[in-house]
Amino acid sequence: MTPLKQPIYSRLALIGFGLIGGSIARAARAQGAVRSIVTTARSAATRKRVAELGIADQVVETNAAAVEGADLVIVCIPVGACGEVAKEIAAHLAPGATVSDVGSVKGAVVRDMAPHLPKHVHFVPAHPVAGTENSGPDSGFAELFVNRWCILTPPDGADPAAVERLASFWRALGANVESMPADHHDLVLGITSHLPHLIAYTIVGTADELSEVTRSEVLKFSAGGFRDFTRIAASDPTMWRDIFLANKDAVLEMLGRFSEDLSALTRAMRAGDGQTLFDHFTRTRAIRRGIVEIGQDSPAPDFGRAHPGLPAEPLPRPYAADNE
Ligand code: NAP
Repeated sequence: MTPLKQPIYSRLALIGFGLIGGSIARAARAQGAVRSIVTTARSAATRKRVAELGIADQVVETNAAAVEGADLVIVCIPVGACGEVAKEIAAHLAPGATVSDVGSVKGAVVRDMAPHLPKHVHFVPAHPVAGTENSGPDSGFAELFVNRWCILTPPDGADPAAVERLASFWRALGANVESMPADHHDLVLGITSHLPHLIAYTIVGTADELSEVTRSEVLKFSAGGFRDFTRIAASDPTMWRDIFLANKDAVLEMLGRFSEDLSALTRAMRAGDGQTLFDHFTRTRAIRRGIVEIGQDSPAPDFGRAHPGLPAEPLPRPYAADNE
């Protein structure tokens, strides 16, 4: 990607500097998308670490101080905390500034933040659909948003120029941008992200509680599929607690549909109905191929994990004997 000739915003304030805030800072700096970056985080320990990393121009102690004079403010904290922060910064926002966020749920964030924000700012909520299971100031990287979607959910009556300016900021960070209403976002992400996380959290917990199978066996044979669930189930507990509370309705709706489909597959298995199972698995395989085709994942087998080669030396006799 070629860095911009002109920055899109002058002063970017990042409230919260974890995976997402830290990645925005790194990418915005690398691309020259802003002239300067000021940031803050809740704890003194994180603020100290961010100052050591040297990615922001200024690390300040309070949210109010961070937003002073900023023309773009992005709140990068768990969704359950966004309302309180909006209340805290409201009186300090510069006229004409754009206030945004990165929360994985949009309806609840709009409900909690919008009432506190003054009329003289543009509120344009956003959700970069990109992440990893890691968190904290060291976990971010500049390429996180490249070729990923960033969904904007501008409220009715939002200033189109302010929305377009924020969209161009995200495009400068490598993202593809789409706009949709907040409640539609929550439904889409309910099925594509929130329900899969709930399933991963459940299955990893279930395996952990199985008394007939030891924990060491679960770990040892995890490459049989379980390992891929464990990556998702390692995601930040605070963030995901807040997501399930904030997007309860959409996730419960999707969970209902999921349970019905699970019952249908259970019935097919019980009845020995192989055709139903085969047809279902054929359909899901096509979905995976579609994801690869549109460049949202790698076509490399096993997600591109490195696999050790065969041993250079012949195998010891007892193993070799199996093939003779
Ligand atoms: P993170 O790495 O855990 O960082 C969270 C940041 O928020 C930290 O700077 C933390 O400060 C601060 N914070 C935590 N609780 C707070 C509170 N109650 N009040 C004020 N600040 C608080 O989290 P993240 O992954 O960047 O996620 C941030 C947001 O991005 C969430 O809303 C999440 O839904 C959204 N998001 C995440 C992903 C993902 O995959 N991780 C993807 C897309 C969107 P301290 O370090 O001082 O505690």
